[in-house]
Amino acid sequence: MDDNLQPHEPPKQVVVCGGGIIGVCTAYFLAKKGARVTLIERSSIACAASGKAGAFLALHMCDDGPMSSLARTSFSLHSSLAKELEGSVSYGYRPLTTLSISVGESVLPSRSPILPPWVDGRVKTGEIIGTTETTAQIDPRLFTRVLLAKAVTEYGVEVVTGKVEGVVVEEEGVVVKVDGGGVVGGDAVVLALGPWTNKLPELCSKFRVHGKKVHCVVLEPKDGDAITPHALFATYYPTQEPGPIDPDFFPRPTRDVYICGPSVEVEIPDGPESVSPDPESIQMLERVAGIVSSYLEKENVSVKSEEAGIMPCTDDDMPIMGEVLGMKGCYVASGHGYWGILFGPASGAAMAELVLDGRATIVDLHRFSPTRFVV
Ligand SMILES: Cc1cc2nc3c(=O)[nH]c(=O)nc-3n(C[C@H](O)[C@H](O)[C@H](O)COP(=O)(O)OP(=O)(O)OC[C@H]3O[C@@H](n4cnc5c(N)ncnc54)[C@H](O)[C@@H]3O)c2cc1C
Repeated sequence: MDDNLQPHEPPKQVVVCGGGIIGVCTAYFLAKKGARVTLIERSSIACAASGKAGAFLALHMCDDGPMSSLARTSFSLHSSLAKELEGSVSYGYRPLTTLSISVGESVLPSRSPILPPWVDGRVKTGEIIGTTETTAQIDPRLFTRVLLAKAVTEYGVEVVTGKVEGVVVEEEGVVVKVDGGGVVGGDAVVLALGPWTNKLPELCSKFRVHGKKVHCVVLEPKDGDAITPHALFATYYPTQEPGPIDPDFFPRPTRDVYICGPSVEVEIPDGPESVSPDPESIQMLERVAGIVSSYLEKENVSVKSEEAGIMPCTDDDMPIMGEVLGMKGCYVASGHGYWGILFGPASGAAMAELVLDGRATIVDLHRFSPTRFVV
């Protein structure tokens, strides 16, 4: 044998559990780096928060905090992926201007030049908090599915439907147990189960991933052409209920207007199909829509969807990404909270580096390690 020829190492076999944006981005970047990847999802791809999010992306809104580099790296990865995948056509990628506004039945409307004409309701001027250079949006369900389709067709990712019930770490690799008695083996496993991460018995004592439920509606205005690409971060001051509420408005290129908020801590239900919206929260969002804009009043829209999703949250509001202590080859990627759609690409790319190279360079993952919760 020629001394210069290195023996060829077989590609690593990696099992990714969870078909939300974090699992799919991780599977995509692992396979692109040469791993053989099996993705296991219990229900359907992007069926949970990753399909219901507003999917607002911001370059700068995590600045001055520990997640700044993750946010900035991921914002630019979103932009390059959008070019590669024709995101403006395939999943509604679009830069937009972002305003903060105050809203309330007792607010006297003010006509400020920064408000687009469709924001004609009881709105007090706020300020411009993002430009088309610093804020953008996608349709998260389409993004996750388009990225997975590329991972399958170009990089050979295999998708399996099944509920992961446990992970066994062995000398020579990991074994993932699936309901019905099936097993999938590999050199490593990445658990990206969103708010269901702690349901795995092996993880429940290592750290806490809890859930916050957020409601969302999609309205189709009769005069959709009037709606310009302006995201609105509203603070609504109700006349009766206590305290202000913060609904967010994200008009989409489809001419629909997506509205979501606020979040409330909940028990994690058994699975994504058990997450249902509460009628009062939906009514509140639809009422505020009509206060913000006459184009969004009840008689001027048809309701396209009324849903709720659960954000995976952690005790220090930072994602958990890294190898689980005492479980060699078993990695976790969860707890992305309010910014999981923004953080998806950089989290997936960094996890792929960590699993295959032993170290992430695109983003420093040390501060997100699950070992930070070990006392
Ligand atoms: C209403 C709303 C608005 C939001 N707006 C934004 C926003 O504007 N910008 C932003 O960046 N983020 C936003 N987010 C946050 C973002 O959606 C989440 O942080 C992100 O989707 C989490 O992704 P995930 O892949 O970790 O989890 P999930 O999307 O929950 O995916 C987890 C997947 O794992 C699967 N699974 C669970 N258990 C098992 C098992 N045992 N076996 C196999 N599969 C399993 C589930 O079926 C699911 O598909 C919003 C969230 C909500 C709810």
